[in-house]
Amino acid sequence: MIASLPGYTEAAALIADRAAHFAQRSPRSELVALSSALARVLARPICADRDMPAFPRSTRDGFACRAEEASSHGFLAIAGSIRAGDPPAGPLPHGAAWEIMTGAAVPAGADAVVMLEHVEHGLDRIRLAAGRSIESGDNIVPTGAEARAGDELIAAGARMSPAHIAAAAACGYANLRLFARPRVAILTTGDELVSVDSTPGPGQVRNSNAAMLAALVTQAGGEPWILPTTRDEAQQLDSALRQALDADLLLISGGVSAGKFDLVEPALARLAAHFHFTGVRIQPGKPLVYCEVERQDAPVQPVFGLPGNPISSAATFLLFASAILAALAGNREKPPGFDAAVLARDVKGKSDLTRFVPAATSFADGRMQVTPVGSQGSGDLAAFARADCFLMVPEGVERLPAGSAARILRF
Ligand code: AMP
Ligand code: MG
Repeated sequence: MIASLPGYTEAAALIADRAAHFAQRSPRSELVALSSALARVLARPICADRDMPAFPRSTRDGFACRAEEASSHGFLAIAGSIRAGDPPAGPLPHGAAWEIMTGAAVPAGADAVVMLEHVEHGLDRIRLAAGRSIESGDNIVPTGAEARAGDELIAAGARMSPAHIAAAAACGYANLRLFARPRVAILTTGDELVSVDSTPGPGQVRNSNAAMLAALVTQAGGEPWILPTTRDEAQQLDSALRQALDADLLLISGGVSAGKFDLVEPALARLAAHFHFTGVRIQPGKPLVYCEVERQDAPVQPVFGLPGNPISSAATFLLFASAILAALAGNREKPPGFDAAVLARDVKGKSDLTRFVPAATSFADGRMQVTPVGSQGSGDLAAFARADCFLMVPEGVERLPAGSAARILRF
């Protein structure tokens, strides 16, 4: 029976295909203050509004000069002084140097800046210190060397990083046109769940998935919309699913395993969902469901039924749901994907499942290492809190030995 489920690679390819389909939808855009743009997705490219730099910029405090003249180590008369922010000065007379500060415009005629530390001072004159050399172009960034007016610096579809924010600020973008964040409904299900601010009774547990999934959604560029938790009861589920139809993406947690009260799949079937898979050969997360629901006045809604075990929910979100979310967000960057790290100890694999083991990275002996956190299974949040990645053990690999290279997915 398990053989009829897709393997990890197959399921990931299917999701990538659906993500490419959703990426064709152009999300609504909105004007956002630069100060609120971090991690949001750019709807229009950012272009240089003028040459960068707009004037030949000195990168040092020192003396602007002609490199050829300074190289003789003869004295050069100090012809003037320019500070950052002053309008360009010059021209530089022959046989002279111009005192200059970091960030100031290099006077016309000068082709190099000698660092302050590399000159000997006389009265009103300087010379290149013995043992120092200077060449044309040293310590000057020429006009337009970084970018030309009109050049595209950041493409639409990029997720705004602090470096992007700096470039946008330098080009005068006080506001940016960004894609609206996709609204992601989070529906937790389970009779045993109580809210975070209450004391669980016998047999009850706090609903940690709503908070965790909201954090994962925010981190992935979505706007979480936490719906009231539903009990394991068909009618409640039906009405919650109807309410969730307003969302761009729906994440349901719990109720997708084979238990007597796992009612999510039948409820989705009542909505005439088109099921792409109802399980994947992975551990944790085998019961994962992905389907799409037709809507009357809106395009189809992608829906994930995530297994309720917290670590299963996190893994399946990161492995699959995040790709659909990125597509809906208009994010055109390469998805985060896997990194490589050296295994610090042996890890066992499974003949018929790809494993994703909660693990912690560290930098040791000059390389990135990864160690499983040693958990009691996919409900062990104490262990999960010590992890910063999932370590992949491909299906059919009996054992990954210590010292081998492994693939990790960071979170
Ligand atoms: P289920 O997928 O509904 O069979 O749940 C599997 C396990 O995950 C059970 O131990 C549940 O109590 C637990 N669980 C389900 N939903 C949540 C949740 N929202 N927060 C914390 N644990 C949960
Ligand atoms: Mg349940």
